[in-house]
Amino acid sequence: MELFRKSGRELSAMMLKREISVEDLLRAHLCRIEQIENKVKAFITITEERALKLARELDRQLASGAMDDRLSDLWGIPIGLKDNLLTRGIRTTSGSKMLAEYFPPYDATVVERLTRGGTILMGKTNLDEFAMGSSTENSAFYPTRNPWDLTRVPGGSSGGSAAAVAAGEVVLALGSDTGGSIRQPAAFCGIVGLKPTYGSVSRYGLIAFASSMDQIGPLTRDVTDSALVLNQLIGYDPRDSTSVRRGTEDFTQALITDVKDIKLGVPQEYFEQNIHPEISQLTYKAIRILEKLGAQVEEVSLPHTEMALPTYYILAPAEASSNLSRFDGIRFGKRAHEVTDLNDLYSLTRSEGFGSEVKRRIMLGTYTLSVGYYDQYYRKAQKVRTLIIEDFARVFANFDVLISPTTPTTAFKLQENLQNPLAMYKSDILTVPANLAGIPAISIPIGFDSTGLPIGLQILGKHFAEATLLRVAYTLEQELGLLAKKDWGITR
Ligand code: GLN
Repeated sequence: MELFRKSGRELSAMMLKREISVEDLLRAHLCRIEQIENKVKAFITITEERALKLARELDRQLASGAMDDRLSDLWGIPIGLKDNLLTRGIRTTSGSKMLAEYFPPYDATVVERLTRGGTILMGKTNLDEFAMGSSTENSAFYPTRNPWDLTRVPGGSSGGSAAAVAAGEVVLALGSDTGGSIRQPAAFCGIVGLKPTYGSVSRYGLIAFASSMDQIGPLTRDVTDSALVLNQLIGYDPRDSTSVRRGTEDFTQALITDVKDIKLGVPQEYFEQNIHPEISQLTYKAIRILEKLGAQVEEVSLPHTEMALPTYYILAPAEASSNLSRFDGIRFGKRAHEVTDLNDLYSLTRSEGFGSEVKRRIMLGTYTLSVGYYDQYYRKAQKVRTLIIEDFARVFANFDVLISPTTPTTAFKLQENLQNPLAMYKSDILTVPANLAGIPAISIPIGFDSTGLPIGLQILGKHFAEATLLRVAYTLEQELGLLAKKDWGITR
């Protein structure tokens, strides 16, 4: 099997046994980039030279023998980072013209952590501008394409990260998930995407979209790698005021095929959202597999599901309008020239710097936060958010995990939803509730539709129950046996 189809765990074992060098592995992925990147367009910036230098340095350390006992599980592994994660001295655009020439002075906490773990950054991946979107078509640079079918979107907003992993350009990548932006592209690209519990992974150095919902998480080729990345990412960070102190956990311990003690709820409302029949069928099939293995399965109700999307599209733009006020032409990035006064500077910079989806959200958010409409929209949405949180709390009093499809459809065509924001928003209908409640959720591939496009299944859990999610996900992954057959990349 080619190196670019293997998981991080397999590859790091090969490097430890000296079967391949770090540079071999990096070159296999660079070669893949050379073959297909002009079609997929997963990256905004590729850091080839820097990566090669680091790979050679790691090979020297390996040769000196001093490294072995200190090797982390991701040591030497080529990775991608969504371009809304700050990287010191490496251009970080957030998919926007506003930051087209922005070189951050510091690394995000997650970047520090992965660097310490010995991973090799191969580049910054494409995204919808400021992570607003579900297709990566809102990038100010170019859309990314789905490696399984180049006429289709990879999902979004972490579409570049998902496509890069699915196409074998990197072994794994990080994304951010405010309303589904890790899980939805993972589903569309046939890979694993995990959104951790709110507060578990530091947001320091993540360009903020909606701060009460943003979480960073891994996009990987399998569940095992997802656990390995979580081991590195989760941890308290005093620089993020919402960071949680959790005890140290080794998530690889959760990688066992055993669901006998698991109580599994099937939220009925999630199956009533115009889900494509092939997706519901495959989801139910997966649920039956878990039931056969001893999980207790029951239907459950989350009555406020219908309200999740409208609630999200009031709260997320409200927070975004506030967060994006910092892009004023003075403090960061772009500055308009030939202005007559300060107001002119603000409005010209922002008119030129932001794309239309970002402007739409700023206007929506400014409106719902205004004195005249705050009670009617923002405050009401906060109350509904509480109802949604209570829905989950009620169900999780009796159940360990919930299972649903990740998305109502498989990957749609480029342009298909671009002129219709509402249709685009609807692809997140099954993912936004987890962000509103702050609970963890994972999407794993469970098969393909009749046209050969990947289908994702979502597992939701209680706050801090990532280990349970990983256990159920791992069990399903092993039972389905997709990994052996799986043909990553645009081989079709
Ligand atoms: N697609 C959703 C949106 O546009 C979610 C984005 C995200 O999770 N960053 O807001």
